[in-house]
Amino acid sequence: MAQIIDGKAIAKRIKAEVKERIAARGEPAPLVVAVEVGEDAASASYVRNQARQAERVGIHHRLDRLPADTNDEALRDHLRGLNADPAVTGIMLQTPLPRHLDLRGARALIASSKDVEAVGPLAAGALVANTHAVAPCTAQAAVLCLEDVLGDDLSGKHVVVIGRSEIVGRPLGLLLLHANATVTVCHRHTGDLSPYTRNADAVVVAVGKPGLVRGDMVRPGAVVVDVGTNWIEAEERLVGDVDFDSVEPHAAAITPVPGGVGPVTVAVLLANTLHLAEAASPASPEAAQ
Ligand code: NAP
Repeated sequence: MAQIIDGKAIAKRIKAEVKERIAARGEPAPLVVAVEVGEDAASASYVRNQARQAERVGIHHRLDRLPADTNDEALRDHLRGLNADPAVTGIMLQTPLPRHLDLRGARALIASSKDVEAVGPLAAGALVANTHAVAPCTAQAAVLCLEDVLGDDLSGKHVVVIGRSEIVGRPLGLLLLHANATVTVCHRHTGDLSPYTRNADAVVVAVGKPGLVRGDMVRPGAVVVDVGTNWIEAEERLVGDVDFDSVEPHAAAITPVPGGVGPVTVAVLLANTLHLAEAASPASPEAAQ
């Protein structure tokens, strides 16, 4: 039987520390602004959850919803306004954006000092150079799930990452390299994944395909982290990319979906928000005591 990696417990520890540090800093509390263009049901529920969790640790959260027909220039003006507002310490741009908008251009406009999701080009460059202040939340969350089992020394571990998106797989590959893991990144063109996954100490999958990783693909004793989130309409439930029932008997440890990487991702977002607020305005010596 595999150990179930308890994402909620990891998230709870991170949030408790964030809450403590925010209380010690005193006012003004960090303010994170989520910018949403139009309305997307999944994004709206994610933002509501973000807002609830932020307020619980003492971070103020605001949703700026712009009309669905907002054009690139208006979105950029809005982001420039948030960059210039000293009360705003963090900015998030909710996705998906309406198709007519330039997501990459908008992300590039978010001041790197307020880029709490680390999605802009400066954050990406800093991650390559290993000089980053904060890392993309889900990639960092996957590392924390691995470390929960393997300890914080991933050096020499062979980790196979399936998926190479700009927001999850690729930054995760870099974070693992910086931790001295040996990293293999698989993607749509890899073909048969098994020769790679069967050799791995740990497998992290971030694709968006239910059942992609099966039990016969995992080495006995491997750690499996499932980033995927797939809503199965017919069963009205959320599943990951891992066929949990066949993988769990082989693995040493595995994240469930839900309750694995997801809660840790939100906690990392809060930690990133605090970190950038602290960098922008260090706590006064009195507040830190
Ligand atoms: P994405 O941008 O669609 O990227 C998917 C990646 O999977 C791509 O790199 C793609 O390869 C690769 N891929 C597709 N089919 C494959 C196959 N058959 N074999 C190997 N690789 C394959 O997705 P994403 O934004 O990274 O998200 C991935 C999953 O994580 C989704 O289910 C998403 O909902 C979930 N997610 C969860 C959280 C969380 O907090 N838990 C956060 C973010 C995302 P190519 O590059 O070659 O096309």
